[in-house]
Amino acid sequence: MKAIEITYKKNNKEKLSYEEIKYMVNSYVKNKISDSTMSEFLWAIYYNGLSIEETYYLTDVMIKSGEVIYLSKLNKPVVDKHSTGGVGDKITLIVSPIVACTGVCVPKMSGRSLGLTGGTVDKLESITGYKLKISKEAFLEELKTVGCAVISQSDKIAVADKKIYALRDEIGAVDSIPLIASSIMSKKIASGSDVIIIDLKVGAGAFMKNIKDATALAKTMVKIGKFYNKKVICTLSDMDTPLGCNIGNSLEVKEAIDFFNGKHDKRLFDLSVYISSLMISAAKKISQRRAREIVINLLESGHARNKFREWIRYQGGDLKKLKDKCNKYIVMSREDGYINKIDSLKLATLVYDLGAGRHKKTDKIDYAVGVMLNRTLGQRVRKGEILGVIYYNKKIKDFEERFIDAFKIEKKKKKIKNIIIKTIK
Ligand code: URA
Repeated sequence: MKAIEITYKKNNKEKLSYEEIKYMVNSYVKNKISDSTMSEFLWAIYYNGLSIEETYYLTDVMIKSGEVIYLSKLNKPVVDKHSTGGVGDKITLIVSPIVACTGVCVPKMSGRSLGLTGGTVDKLESITGYKLKISKEAFLEELKTVGCAVISQSDKIAVADKKIYALRDEIGAVDSIPLIASSIMSKKIASGSDVIIIDLKVGAGAFMKNIKDATALAKTMVKIGKFYNKKVICTLSDMDTPLGCNIGNSLEVKEAIDFFNGKHDKRLFDLSVYISSLMISAAKKISQRRAREIVINLLESGHARNKFREWIRYQGGDLKKLKDKCNKYIVMSREDGYINKIDSLKLATLVYDLGAGRHKKTDKIDYAVGVMLNRTLGQRVRKGEILGVIYYNKKIKDFEERFIDAFKIEKKKKKIKNIIIKTIK
C-alpha cells in the first residue's frame, strides 16, 4: 500500500477499506509517514468526508492503537459522561457524585484546558492535594467504594488520536465531523463504559457553532456507539451564554460547592439535573422522570453533597484549601435594564488572558483567576449595582471594559432560551 494512493482515492471521493485506514493511522503512529503526508490525508477527509463505515474504521483503528479498559469486574452499571467543552462548564464536578449515589459507577478520565475551553483536570487541580494520577487498581477500588473517580486521561488510551489530534490542531483541520466523532468516540469506547452520555455544546463559546452541524456530529457518534453495542446519548446544550456564574478553575470548584449547598444558577441547575437524570435512567433502565425525582431527592437530602465531599477527600483533596489567592476588582453596572445576552466567547477570552487557560498543554496556568457574574441572563440590574467581580493576579489592559462589553443590557426583557436544545439517542 502507498499513502499517496490512499489519499488520492479519498480525494476522488472513493470509499476507503479498513486496511487502508489502518495502514495510514498505524504508519503515522510508527513514524513511517511524515506529518506532511498525514496532513494531506487528513485534508482529503476534511474536504470529502467519510461514510459512517469509514468513520467506524477510523475509530476502531484508533481504539486499537492503545489500551482498552474493561470495567465488567465492577459488577455494577457504568456510565461515562463527556462534554465537548464549554465556558464555565463544571458539570462533571456536579453530576459524578449525584450519579454515584445511585449505585451507578462513573469512571471519568478528563482532559486539561486547551485554548479557550476549560478542562476538568485543571479545576480539580485547584484543590490542594487532589491526586489526578492514580494506579489502575486504585481507580477501580475507588469506583467500588465511592462510586465515582475522576483522573487525568491516560497517555496509553487511543494513542493514535493523541498524535493525529495534535496534527489536526496544528494544521487547522479540527472542525470535521468524521474526525471529531472518531476522536471523541475512540477515547470513550476505549475507556470501557457501556453507556456514554455526551453533552455537546453549541454556540459562540463552543467549537460547534450551529445546531445543524452539532446534530450531524451527534448522529454520527450515536451510530458509532452501535457498532460496539454501546448506548450513546447526545444532548445538545446552549453555549452562547456561559454555564453558571463562575468562570476560572478554583472559582468553578467554589460554584460546585455552592451548588451542593443549595445555591445555584438556574441554567446550571437545569443542565446538571438533566444530564444526571439521563445518566441514571440509561444506566439503570428506568424512566427519565423517575431518575429526575431521585436526583432532586439526592440534592435536597444532602446525600449528593456528602458524596461530593467523600469523592474529593478519597482522592486526597482538601476543599477548604483551594488555590485561590488573588486580587478582586468589582465591576458596577453602568446602566439599568435586563441582561439579554452574556457573550461566553468574550468572557472566555478575558479569563484566558487573565491566565486561567493555556496555549500549549505544557503551559502553566493560574488556578485563582477568572470572573464571577453577579447577575445572570434575564435578570434585572440597576446602574451602580455590582455586575460581577474580576479575580486577577496580573492586571490586564481594559479588563473592566472587556467584562462590561460581554453584557447586553436592554430596557425590554427578551425571552430566555432553554439550555437544553435536544437529545439524540
Ligand atoms: N474533542 C476531541 O476529543 N476531539 C476532537 O476532535 C474535538 C474535540
